[in-house]
Parts: sequence; structure tokens; C-alpha cells
Amino acid sequence: MVHDQIVLRTFRCIAVLAVSTLALIVPLWTVDIKGQQASTPPPPPSTIGPPTRADLLRGQYGRYRANNDLLFYHLDVRVDPDKKSIAGKNTIRFRMLADDTRIQLDLAANLNIDKVMLGATPLKYERDLDTVYVDFPSTLRSGREYTIDFHYSGLPQEQGRFGGMAFRTDGAGHPWITTACEDEGARVWWPNKDQWRDEVERMQISIAVPSDLMDISNGRFMGKTDLGDGYTRWDWLVQYPINNYSVSVNIARYEHFADKLDDLPLDFYVLPQNLEKAKRQFAQAKPMLEAFRSYFGEYPFEKDGFKLIEVPYSGMEHQSAVTYGNGFVNGYLDRDWTGIGISLKFDFIIVHESGHEWFGNAVSAADVSDMWIHEGWTTYLESLYVEKMFGHDEAIRYVNSYKPKVQNREPIITQRGIHRQPQQDMYFKGTLFLNTLRSVVNDDTAWWALVRDVYQQFKYRNIMTEDVVRFFNSRTARDWTPIFDQYLRRSAIPTLQLAFNEPGSMAYRWKTDERAFAMPVRIGRPGNWTIVEPTTDWKVMPTSLGKETMDVATDLYYINVEKS
Ligand SMILES: [Zn+2]
Repeated sequence: MVHDQIVLRTFRCIAVLAVSTLALIVPLWTVDIKGQQASTPPPPPSTIGPPTRADLLRGQYGRYRANNDLLFYHLDVRVDPDKKSIAGKNTIRFRMLADDTRIQLDLAANLNIDKVMLGATPLKYERDLDTVYVDFPSTLRSGREYTIDFHYSGLPQEQGRFGGMAFRTDGAGHPWITTACEDEGARVWWPNKDQWRDEVERMQISIAVPSDLMDISNGRFMGKTDLGDGYTRWDWLVQYPINNYSVSVNIARYEHFADKLDDLPLDFYVLPQNLEKAKRQFAQAKPMLEAFRSYFGEYPFEKDGFKLIEVPYSGMEHQSAVTYGNGFVNGYLDRDWTGIGISLKFDFIIVHESGHEWFGNAVSAADVSDMWIHEGWTTYLESLYVEKMFGHDEAIRYVNSYKPKVQNREPIITQRGIHRQPQQDMYFKGTLFLNTLRSVVNDDTAWWALVRDVYQQFKYRNIMTEDVVRFFNSRTARDWTPIFDQYLRRSAIPTLQLAFNEPGSMAYRWKTDERAFAMPVRIGRPGNWTIVEPTTDWKVMPTSLGKETMDVATDLYYINVEKS
């Protein structure tokens, strides 16, 4: 997903002092002060307000969700543009993980449940806001697979930033119907197990629309069938695990053009009046895909292909069916998003939303609390694209241009189980954090191998931050836990304190919330940095540099510096 638009603030370049004094900097000794606090204080209480009943129903992974594992959905519906209605069924196959008589599904309260069937047997159900508890007449057995048909109908309500399910018209007055519901939940237009932890393994999407329209959804196009009543059904097969919110219909009188990247089919769908503009702008898809696969490995959804589909909102990372509404111009919504010129060299929506195919769609968070795994990584992927296309220095400038957008008011990771989406820092602070980790690793060969392995280790899985930290800890000698905790579970970033009390020496330490925080950092003179390893205890080192001439590589580490 793309972040909310934020008022651009002027990026302030950090002036580099042009002093040529070179310093010999060697850590000298560690000051050992007895009696300091030794335990890690708990994180401060969040300022997040109390969860509503709806938040709890949506966010908790309770007994009736945890007792089953999704295997297959077949969403088979008819969309009527005149009535702005949807009707049909979702066939849900699941494996029980425990003996039980009830499962928890979700459908927006304003939509009707027509019936829920187990074969020929109608099932009882109980609605509670958007939750639907389905009850079975006899115990479902652990390890066995079951299939139910959930029939529903109604008028989906347009809502949220991208519409939820929106019935619009194109410039020529023809229907243009789209779905984008990451914030609202897929429940706003179809019945499903609407949570993040359990992704369905595969899915068929069958959408019947008036025969003068097309439906473009996720997965591989399987064919269309004239239903003989003025409607045509479009069939799509998703051959990989998929987030509920990523499932998408895009209904319009689209024009189609196609290309290939090696064996990967590239399909593009745009309104007729934008065909020529799209052919020019979507030429960026190939170098984008090539850039990301050079870092992480093959495009994750090879069998499903890659699509870009024009929509009336800015864009969304619908899996293998990325939706695009950036006006066929570079930048983000026709402007220099980062304010330093680089943004105008590429189409932000093509790069950002497609980057999510690797982080967000292939590697997914198991709770919205850890959504930085989607947005922090994908914003970092923007800078990797910049590095591949325009070089290392431009990438570092790009990452740092996000600094003015960071607020540092709330931790990036929110409370789990209450479906509380993190604030925007997950994008910008998330990417500055990852750029910091690269500098800590301080070996680009090792860094590129590490990020590639993170992706390869966790693709097609739903993970939490702890999984990423554990992987980092297993791959290097460093204990990354306090570093991840400070940046992701605390509001403040680390402050490097430098004290120049005695001529010829400098005392230094980290001021952080995490007592065990220890992170190397480059200090001294640009072009001749020395790496020191501060902890939260004072260390003292000799230096010929003073308060005014001692510099810190703050474009490589997202930190504050405090000199005294
Ligand atoms: Zn995003």
C-alpha cells in the first residue's frame, strides 16, 4: 500500500565541514562505573487508545480461527454495475487443526448471508458485527478437510482511502468497478477468514460481469465463459498463498497489451484513452522487475504472471495484479515525492507497489502490528531500485530524503491482536532503519546475501519481527535484538553522545531506551571514517578532532548526535 500523502518539508542537507585534519582514532578504554542499572526497562505504555469490540473481533486469533487452516477458496460471484450489487458464493476448504464444532469467518454486517452449506446440509451461523460464527451439527475432526459454500449478496459500501469496493465510471461513462481493502478488510465485499496469519494456499476467482466489460483479477487467466444472459464469467487461478485483502476485482472496458520478461508473462490493462501513455510508462515494469530479482531472486509469482491494471485510486500491491493510478507520469501523483529530484526519474507507484510482490505478498506479516515487514522493506526496495538504476550515492540520498517524514512519536510495532495499523513511521523510519543495518554489517557482499536470504527464508510465509531478528542473529555474530527493539519497539532513535571535556580525547556512548543497545558507527572525517563500537556505557578515546571537527556518518546511520 502507498502511504498517506504528507506535506513535503524541505530536505536539509547536512553540511559537510571541509576540514582536512585527519585523526588517528583508536578506542582506548571503557569506563567501568559500578552500580549502574543493569536491567532492561520495559517499553513505555503506548498512547494508542482502547480497542473497540470490532478491533478485537478482527484482530484476535482466537479458538475458532486457530482451530483450522485455510486450503482453498473459490470466490464465484456476479457483479451488477447498475444495481451496484454483488451476489454469489465463496467455497471455503479448510483442514481442522483441533476437534471443534464452530469456526470464525467474516462478512461485513451490511451484506446478506443467503445460506451456508456443508454439502446439502444448511449450517447455522451467528453474526456479531462483521464476524460470522459458523456452527456444525457434529464435531469436525482434527486433521480432516471440510468444504463449505458461503452464499451472500448485497450492496458493498464504498469506504476508506481506496474505496473498499467502489462502483465508479470511466471518462466515457462506462462502469469502472474496483476493490482495494487492506485497511477495511476483504470482508467489505466477500466472505472469508479475514485475518493475516492464515493465508489460503490457492484460490480460484470467478467474476461474472456484463459482457461488454472485463474483469481482471489475481492469478493466471483461465478463460471466459459467455453465460448466455448478457453476462460473461472471467476465471482466474491464484497458484500461491494470498492475503485476503490482496484479492481484487477490476472491472472496466480495458484495453490489453502484453509483453514478456524471459518466461514471465507481463499483462497490462488500461482505459482505451490511456493506451499510448501506458505503453510508454509501463516500459518501466521490466527494469523494475529485473532490479528486484537481481537482489532477491525470481519474481515470486511466476506461474501467475505479472500484471499492471489501471484504477481510479493511487495504487495497491494486489498480488500478481498490481493496480495503478499514478497518471502515467513519474514521481508520486505528479510530484517530486522526496524533494531531491530522484523521484521524478521513475514512476513511484510502479516501483513501490510492485516491490510489495517480494515483501508484503511473498513475505507477509502474521499480524498488522508488524506491517513494517511490508512497508519498511518495500520502501527500502525503492532505494534498491534507485541504487541499481542511478547508483549508490543517489540511493543514500534517496533514503535520507525520507528523514523529514519521520515522526518518532510511537513505536513502529503496535500492540498485537487488536488490529491496530502502525503509523506512517513504518515506511520511512523502517527504510532508514534497514539502511542503518547495512552500515552496521559494513560489508555490502554480506549485506546483499543477508537480505536475499531473509527473502528466500520467509517467502510464502507469514512471519513476525521476532522471526527476522532470529534470522539476523543466526547469520552473524552480533546480537541484533536490542538494535531491532530500539528502532521498532521504542519511539526514539538512538542518540550518539560525544563529550569533549579533556583536550585530546573524547568520551562517547549511546543514549537509548534499550540498556543492552550496542551498535558500531562511523565517526571522524568524511572519506576517512573510523568505526567505533559505542555501548550505553561511556568509553573514552584519544582524538585530535574537537567538538566542531568531529563528524558522524549520519547519512549511513539513522541516529541523533549530541555533542558537549
Ligand atoms: Zn506499500
